[in-house]
Amino acid sequence: EAKKKGKNQFAYYHTSMERAIHHFMYIESLIREGLTQNLFELYFQPLIDSKTLRMEGYEALLRLKHPHKGFIPPDTIIPVAEANGDIHLIGDKVLSQACDFIDALRALQDEPFFVAINVSAKQLQRNKFVQELFDYLALRSIPSSYLKVEVTESTVMENIAVVSQQLSQLKAGGIRISLDDFGTGYSSFAYLAQLPIDTLKIDKSFILALFKDNSNRHIVEAISNLAHALGMNVTAEGVEEAQHYDFLLENNIDTLQGYHLCRPLPKDEILNNMQKILPVLREYTRQ
Ligand code: C2E
Ligand code: MG
Ligand code: MG
Ligand code: MG
Repeated sequence: EAKKKGKNQFAYYHTSMERAIHHFMYIESLIREGLTQNLFELYFQPLIDSKTLRMEGYEALLRLKHPHKGFIPPDTIIPVAEANGDIHLIGDKVLSQACDFIDALRALQDEPFFVAINVSAKQLQRNKFVQELFDYLALRSIPSSYLKVEVTESTVMENIAVVSQQLSQLKAGGIRISLDDFGTGYSSFAYLAQLPIDTLKIDKSFILALFKDNSNRHIVEAISNLAHALGMNVTAEGVEEAQHYDFLLENNIDTLQGYHLCRPLPKDEILNNMQKILPVLREYTRQ
């Protein structure tokens, strides 16, 4: 009986491993196609000042738009790209499209804004990353204040020595930094105070379940107080409902991001809407 079970277990293990390898190779081939045929596209989701409702920035979110397979989400792509090294090529595409968006929006509005790009551990661990980023901004004549970098809390804490050094260099060059998915990554408070962080982004899991679980409201309140005590701003992602919005405003969350306010949109949809919104905004602020 035990022998039989053992054999079955082995068979099961074998096929699931095979399946994992197949999945990896399949995603890898889609990434290759994406890179060679320019199928990667950034979407942009507004980050909204909770008090003025101004769009203070936009998070750049990666999509692979495959002609037959449809959308492949970043959570599927990024782990594979990190493992095989394609993340560096993808990161280049992200930066160049983020800069295209910055250029296009600067041509429309004088008000300051930023684009936040997500950067993974593998990218930050590459020695040349920071220098190449600044070189590219210089090449495009884009001041570093237009760019913000989002790194997840776990990326930072698992690679604290290398990552904190890279973040300091980014910060010294005028790029602002958000600690993404905050609350899920075992932060050490001692590090938190020392890292050059501008913004804590509360993970969306806390916001989505704000009214399903009392403790989430306490956690959000505590993170908000902590951020402000440390001189940081705080952003909430996953704001899906009006009820979330009210609670977050009451608890001094500075910036809001979520489907209740705006979904991630293709570049042109944001830009075309700005063309309609901006004249109204200018008229309004003149009074
Ligand atoms: P993230 O940086 O935490 O991004 C926020 C995610 O929440 C995005 O998912 C966004 O579409 C989603 N979101 C925004 N508002 C709401 C809402 O109200 N409700 C819900 N349920 N979700 C909301 P997305 O675009 O699928 O990205 C997933 C993750 O993939 C990102 O999480 C980020 O860690 C990673 N990622 C995305 N683009 C890039 C990239 O260019 N480079 C790297 N390295 N990672 C990226
Ligand atoms: Mg992010
Ligand atoms: Mg996040
Ligand atoms: Mg996330």
